[in-house]
Amino acid sequence: MTSGEREQRLAFLGLTEDDAQLLRALRPVLEPQVDAIVETFYAHLLKFPATAELLRDTVTIARIKQIQRDYLLRITEGIFDEAYFANRLRIGQAHERVGLSSRWYLLEHGLLFNLLTPLIRQHFTGDPGRADATIAALEKVFMLDAALATEAYIASDRHRHLQQLDSIVNDSADVIFSLDMEGHFRSWNRAAERVFGWLSEEILGRHLSEIIPPELLRQGELVQIERDILGHGHCHLETRRLAKDGREVPVEVMVSLLRDPQGNPIGRSAILRDITERKRLEEDKLQSERLAVIGTMSARLAHEIRNPLSSVTLNLELIRDEVAALTHQNPATGGEARELLRALDSEVKRVQRVTEDYLKFARLPRPRCQPVALNELLDQQLGFMNSSFAANHVKLVTDFAGNLPVLQADEDQLWQAVLNLIRNALEAMPTGGTLTVRTAARDGWVGLSIADTGKGMTEEERQNLFKPFFSTKVGGTGLGLPLTQQVVVEHAGTIRCESAPGTGTTFVIELPTQ
Ligand code: ADP
Ligand code: MG
Repeated sequence: MTSGEREQRLAFLGLTEDDAQLLRALRPVLEPQVDAIVETFYAHLLKFPATAELLRDTVTIARIKQIQRDYLLRITEGIFDEAYFANRLRIGQAHERVGLSSRWYLLEHGLLFNLLTPLIRQHFTGDPGRADATIAALEKVFMLDAALATEAYIASDRHRHLQQLDSIVNDSADVIFSLDMEGHFRSWNRAAERVFGWLSEEILGRHLSEIIPPELLRQGELVQIERDILGHGHCHLETRRLAKDGREVPVEVMVSLLRDPQGNPIGRSAILRDITERKRLEEDKLQSERLAVIGTMSARLAHEIRNPLSSVTLNLELIRDEVAALTHQNPATGGEARELLRALDSEVKRVQRVTEDYLKFARLPRPRCQPVALNELLDQQLGFMNSSFAANHVKLVTDFAGNLPVLQADEDQLWQAVLNLIRNALEAMPTGGTLTVRTAARDGWVGLSIADTGKGMTEEERQNLFKPFFSTKVGGTGLGLPLTQQVVVEHAGTIRCESAPGTGTTFVIELPTQ
């Protein structure tokens, strides 16, 4: 509080040097009685639950008594300077903190006043005029103190209120920021820092366009938002925003007009929700719906193709026999026909393989779970593949955990899932390498990893791995990994992939043991 503000309050009450002098003269009267007054005051506080509640322990009681004693003696010093004001404001804040409402604080002053006036009258019995003047001076001081206490209460209250607002904004899970009329950032909460990677001190003062993807700016998204705000006072939309590192974040946005207390527009406030996760779920759902349709369709298609295909294969055999018979006499002839037949045969085989892939995927039944000892299953099935590994110049390394719990799983499907990973691994190592198959146990989960030393994949490939029909291979169906994922998910497990170009790929499947 400035000295001007102090003067103003003293002048308003008419608290003058004369009053101060009268109060100073009170000191010899008050000093011997101060303990008795404080005791009476304290006894009175005990009679009322709201005040008695505060007097629970001896330390508090002693402190309150000391504060009252100091206060009464301080009044009789008759000095109302900066230190006095500061002290009164502090006492008010302290009362607010211990939870004594301003009402009780003011009533306490009334009580003290009632305790003091009879003493003054008694002391100045021979001089009623002096008694009245002293009581009037005392009243002014008490009024001043009550006013200061009220100010302290209001200030604390506002402070708490602001803190609360601050924490609502800052601890919000949603991004909240505000803009001035020109579109410069004026506030930026913690969620905004988290989602967009801009610290508030970096972005304040910058323009909103920092977080708008350039093509949306060009398409006039901001103009559209402004039009809505001016029309309805707010605007709600789903769009994308730009993080500091250039990442685009899908968001739901609510922009409102900010007004000053007189109702003049002073800017915009925006609440943004990061909907990456929601988008992903929607995408997944769409994907699985699409997949279901494709599944049924391709199953029918594959089914329809299968029979004509077998007859094509059969007829090829017959033609080959015919050609063989016709060229029996002279094997040098018919070479070209034989070559063509071989090519046809290999193409037909490919179509058959693709058809089988589709059928397997579309007809994947619900898993029939039985106890499965994973290590034994792998050991046995990998054993059957030895010749295949040798042909591909692939060295198999196994590292099985000793005490692997038994899984509840569909053994056929599980192996099918693993086999797809192994096939991919072999295909990723066309000139050979090492295939490492590991199992591990971790509380409630069994882990299985398949690692190759093959060509690895780019980040983009990694992102698209599990999408049906995604394939980088000539003649690949892109159905192997979706099938593997489907099996894992139906076993309540998870699958993830770590890979980098040139260093190889590791797939990790984790399955719950319960
Ligand atoms: P497909 O094998 O028919 O291509 P998948 O669903 O099995 O279909 O695999 C999809 C794609 O994922 C592959 O085409 C390949 O690009 C990539 N991929 C899968 N496994 C590996 C691996 N071990 N190393 C490198 N790329 C892989
Ligand atoms: Mg595959």
